[in-house]
Amino acid sequence: MTRALIYRGNDILLCCDENDVPFFPVLDADNCNSPEIMYFETEGTRYAVLTEKAAENVKEGFWIGLRESWGRLDPKSWNIAAKGAELAHFMRTNCFCGTCGTALVKASDISRLCPVCGREFFPALSPAIIVLVTRGEEALLVHAKSFRRPFYALVAGFVETGETIEECVAREIYEETSLRVTDIRYFGSQSWPFPSQLMLGFTARYASGTLRWADGELSDGGFFTRDSHPLLPTLPSISRRLIDAWLNGEVGRK
Ligand SMILES: [Zn+2]
Repeated sequence: MTRALIYRGNDILLCCDENDVPFFPVLDADNCNSPEIMYFETEGTRYAVLTEKAAENVKEGFWIGLRESWGRLDPKSWNIAAKGAELAHFMRTNCFCGTCGTALVKASDISRLCPVCGREFFPALSPAIIVLVTRGEEALLVHAKSFRRPFYALVAGFVETGETIEECVAREIYEETSLRVTDIRYFGSQSWPFPSQLMLGFTARYASGTLRWADGELSDGGFFTRDSHPLLPTLPSISRRLIDAWLNGEVGRK
């Protein structure tokens, strides 16, 4: 049996059973071997990643944003939807060879090939760091202009060519807040499909400097205590896991 992961931009198509529990539509066997479709397999189930045209074949489906589907889908299913979203993004953005401009053809379930120059294309990840900065018992929480809701979270940014991830942590904090940090430590990672990031979480301790929103990405923020902090993100992102580790006293205690 093949399940269909159908995407329209950042939305995914789900169906609901009689108890209002969402599930991925089952794919018609006749549509399973299209050269355009990408596939992956998880725990014995095959998933086909499709564009919105396939929605015509699904009865009583509904579109929901990938972010909004957290909570409707169980965590395992959400991870599957997230992986599919990254492949759908790859399908939309890798139609022609970046070297010679020829239309790409399917090479494998998860790659495309240029039939002229032979270059093979796989979904590319964008590594990014996210960091919880503590100063004594306090933590730095910031609001970025790009946040869609009025919560406060952590400094984050993309790793640049030629730098280590630790150098990236120090650079991003300095560029965005004018602060210097020390004791940079790896915390954990998370695949983040908006659209294809690998988030690498760190903790760091304040070393010196005065808060200033230097490069214009942040609009507000400061050092907060566990008893008095602003609204926090609700998605189970690594940002929230880092903040929870601080709230629980796992990090940021002397
Ligand atoms: Zn080519």
